[in-house]
Amino acid sequence: MIKNISVNKMSCCETPVQEKGNLPVAIIGAGPVGLAAAAQLISKGEPFMLFEAGDEVGANIRKWEHVRLFSPWQYNIDKAAKELLLSANWVAPQNEKIPTGKEIVEHYLKPLAALPELSANVHLNTKVTAISRKGLSKVKTSGREKLPFVIHVEQNGSSFIYEARAVIDASGTWSNPNPLRSDGIFTEEEKALNSHISYGIPAVLSKERNRYSGKKVLVVGSGHSAINTLLELAQLQKEESGTEIVWAIRKANIEDVYGGRELDGLQARGELGTRIQKVVESGTVKVLTGFHIEELRKQGEQIQVSGSIQNERVVIDHIDEIVGNTGSRPDLSIVQEVRILTDPSLDCVYELAPLIDPNVHSCGTVRPHGEKELRQPEKDFYIVGAKSYGRAPTFLMATGYEQVRSIVAALVGDMESAQKVELELPETGVCSLGASSTDSCCEPVQMKETSLDCCSPSKTEKAGSDSCCE
Ligand SMILES: Cc1cc2nc3c(=O)[nH]c(=O)nc-3n(C[C@H](O)[C@H](O)[C@H](O)COP(=O)(O)OP(=O)(O)OC[C@H]3O[C@@H](n4cnc5c(N)ncnc54)[C@H](O)[C@@H]3O)c2cc1C
Repeated sequence: MIKNISVNKMSCCETPVQEKGNLPVAIIGAGPVGLAAAAQLISKGEPFMLFEAGDEVGANIRKWEHVRLFSPWQYNIDKAAKELLLSANWVAPQNEKIPTGKEIVEHYLKPLAALPELSANVHLNTKVTAISRKGLSKVKTSGREKLPFVIHVEQNGSSFIYEARAVIDASGTWSNPNPLRSDGIFTEEEKALNSHISYGIPAVLSKERNRYSGKKVLVVGSGHSAINTLLELAQLQKEESGTEIVWAIRKANIEDVYGGRELDGLQARGELGTRIQKVVESGTVKVLTGFHIEELRKQGEQIQVSGSIQNERVVIDHIDEIVGNTGSRPDLSIVQEVRILTDPSLDCVYELAPLIDPNVHSCGTVRPHGEKELRQPEKDFYIVGAKSYGRAPTFLMATGYEQVRSIVAALVGDMESAQKVELELPETGVCSLGASSTDSCCEPVQMKETSLDCCSPSKTEKAGSDSCCE
């Protein structure tokens, strides 16, 4: 049961008066992790309000709804959410089946948000624009912990301010893609070419077929999104032979892109590597490795992209369409007025950086972590989900579910439960730490830890000096 609450919603000019203790917890973003936070709060009888910028829950996933995930249902459903759904006679999908993005939204997130316990408190078309402490900028220290948070939102064309006792920011990163240039800067030239650049995974074989059919398409990036895009383009090329595909990656070695393949703990993730390897080896795609994009120019109705490979200038002419799959970054502008600590290179939650830094750590595992690691200098303010990973690409929903379970336990004062974090993640089968798989943190075994310290004695002995658990 949700406690009776009175939510303060004001026009920007009124002065609210309310005790912080009676206020709800604010959740930003109705993706899988934001909705799991809501389910966890409901399970504790805690009031909440959830703000979603899109016109439906799962709005970011909707943008790649045609893509099949790589993790089966068993990893994609939060436990508290499942309990709520089952009590409303929901028929759970089969554990081992692998859903598409569309199925995640329609068979899981939408039924969850439609439950009476959630629906009244989920505010769609409500974009959070800023967060602060009531009446205090972030410079002022005295008494700030006792003050409510103020959440500034744009809701159906009007501005409002809500008050909350705590904030869980689960707003993801998908709406904030990285640019194509390898220096990470969005130039005016790139912005001006926007109508020929798609950031994301376009529905090449369905809705957006005409845009790509028979065209010269440049795909930039080397992660799973790029692979998904390329696999569809390769299929399109079979059907429309005039389609030309160029793939530009910064990695020097294409083998690094293929991942663990048959060693991957998630079969579907491994198969992405195997399938793209076949496509590359068939010669369907022209691959430019070690390519650093430096300039984009309009070339008549087309685009010219230039850059360098090992300091040699390389130019790709007459590109019709570009698909940018260079990752995404968190929007930190909304949290400018709260005291947060992020890693300077990854923009992720500071404490997570050594666990997920793609420069040194390529496996899909992460040490179990919870409220303690996600705690910010601003008391009762948390960044969770894909956003907690910042620019690192390896986030999995299961990680986010454990994050919010631990945080909600802490918010209701159950520190024992908050600190007992458990996480089981399938390995990618690739580890860039350690000389051999047995030396690494990413050895292909199921990882299950029940304390905040991943280095239980047995793990430490195995891990050796190169381990992520030092
Ligand atoms: C193509 C693809 C495939 C993936 N496959 C898997 C997989 O197989 N298994 C797996 O575990 N993970 C997978 N992931 C990774 C990850 O689990 C998903 O990206 C997941 O959607 C992240 O959940 P989230 O709730 O953190 O963020 P999101 O799903 O991105 O949700 C964030 C929500 O916040 C909203 N929002 C943003 N800004 C604001 C604002 N200012 N105010 C209000 N609302 C806002 C957005 O509209 C969105 O609805 C995949 C990711 C991608 C891109």
